[in-house]
Amino acid sequence: MSIWNEIFINQPVWVSNLSNLTSITVLGAVIGLYRRFNCNQHMCLRIGRHKVDGTTYHTCAKHLTDEFHSALQKQHAHKHPEQHRFLNSAEKKLSRI
Ligand SMILES: [Zn+2]
Repeated sequence: MSIWNEIFINQPVWVSNLSNLTSITVLGAVIGLYRRFNCNQHMCLRIGRHKVDGTTYHTCAKHLTDEFHSALQKQHAHKHPEQHRFLNSAEKKLSRI
């Protein structure tokens, strides 16, 4: 048996083209879920469980301070001004009820 048969025919299942697509899809889904739920503080790898008021951001327990939350609120207002305005006006309406 030649070396090419050894490399390309006797390859494991996870190296085949179909499995590569599946692996890439699963990897993308895992990365997407991680990015959805991780802490929004820059370079923080922890899971964010605490919501930042008036934003769609979450922080981990380490970044659960006024300093980090107010910085994230300013960042959200700068990056997404219309969404920030909507979220804060909706929260004001809910707090009045
Ligand atoms: Zn964090």
